[in-house]
Amino acid sequence: MNAGERYDAWRQLRAGERRIVIGPRSAVLAPLRDVGLIVVDEEHETSYKQFDPAPRYHARDVAVMRARQAGAACVLGSATPSLESTMNAHREKYTRLEMPERVPALKGELPEVQIIDLTKERKKRQLAGGVLSKPLRDGIRKRLGRDEQTILLQNRRGYAPIVECADCGFSPTCGDCSVTLTFHKSGGRGLRCHYCGKKRRFPRECPSCGGSMERLGTGTQRVVEELEKAFPEASVTRMDRDATRRKDAHRRILNEFGSGEADVLVGTQMVAKGLDFHRVTLVGVVNADAGLLMPDFRATEHTFQLLTQVAGRAGRADLRGEVLLQTRNPKSPTLQHALSHDYKSFARHALRERRALRYPPFGRIAAVEFRGPGKKKAKRIGRQWTAEAERRTEQIDVIGPEPALVERVKRNYRFRTILKAARSVLPGRIQRLLRAATDAAGSVPNGYRLAIDVDAARLT
Ligand SMILES: [Zn+2]
Ligand SMILES: [Zn+2]
Repeated sequence: MNAGERYDAWRQLRAGERRIVIGPRSAVLAPLRDVGLIVVDEEHETSYKQFDPAPRYHARDVAVMRARQAGAACVLGSATPSLESTMNAHREKYTRLEMPERVPALKGELPEVQIIDLTKERKKRQLAGGVLSKPLRDGIRKRLGRDEQTILLQNRRGYAPIVECADCGFSPTCGDCSVTLTFHKSGGRGLRCHYCGKKRRFPRECPSCGGSMERLGTGTQRVVEELEKAFPEASVTRMDRDATRRKDAHRRILNEFGSGEADVLVGTQMVAKGLDFHRVTLVGVVNADAGLLMPDFRATEHTFQLLTQVAGRAGRADLRGEVLLQTRNPKSPTLQHALSHDYKSFARHALRERRALRYPPFGRIAAVEFRGPGKKKAKRIGRQWTAEAERRTEQIDVIGPEPALVERVKRNYRFRTILKAARSVLPGRIQRLLRAATDAAGSVPNGYRLAIDVDAARLT
């Protein structure tokens, strides 16, 4: 909606002319008069958290609070609830309602999930220089023969996420962000920064030693290329942020796949969400490890949710589905639980880890980010703030300041301090500490920013 449409909708709701509102996270703030019911679908989705720009809020938590204040019911729906919500049900703050059977339209059985050990496949020389293992290639071939469809998840866009000099290891990085550039084949072959969008030409030789540049790693474009080589008769389509940039492209791709024009759909996590195509009987995860290795305490939770969701795309009508997960960590408990569609065991395992490390839902966290064009200055602001916090704290751990995972974005350096406390420490106490440290540290110079994120959704 554009601003005008939003205003009209807001006015109609406020006047009572409309009584139901459907929308993304800000809809939870809609000016309804007597709210009776708030439904938060896929409540575990991280997109419910708004970070930039402020206000920083979690729309699910706002929904719970608003429903409580209005005396309304709030329904949180998910097949893979967030661990926070699971714990709230366990603590009887929420009432758990289970739906143990698949809805009638999906009367079929759950898909069979298999793990493919990429290390073994490589040893057997079954990868043929590509990323699709023999079982996955065989599975796709079978579907092509039966006029069924395949979805492949590869959660990185572009062609090759790593570009490196074969001789000296030099890797071109974005001048404005501290990340390496991704090679893209379509849309004007070249290097692109996934943080700021800046493009650069692909260097023919290494700018540092003159050696030859190699393209390593696999993005969605490379998976499409490998498929086209292996199955020249198949029609392959791609869905990721690059392919859906133009208006209506998203719908066009889905129509193409839904009508059966395309045999294989390759994409990032976009393909995991809510697609319902009856002829899809195979889902392949090209690299199930990518998300697991993120340095974030929620990495396993997000991976389990993503794998469960994408697996749910296979075999949705009368045809039984099959899911193949390619990995280098076949013993990972997260993958093992995904294998058996066992949310409860996964939650038990993950909650034990969280408890041991005092992470939510067993602890409270807040992240404070210090950001600005000068590295030293940004760090100094962080140090000052952190020293003030440390001086005032009891029972709250103050960790930092540390450089953020991506230290520089759009020419701004980022440092982070994390506050961590037991659940028995009340939120108000953390708020007071945040306020006191911020007041004591004084004003932030022009061009610099201090951003406080209570209950931070990501620590990277
Ligand atoms: Zn070199
Ligand atoms: Zn950049």
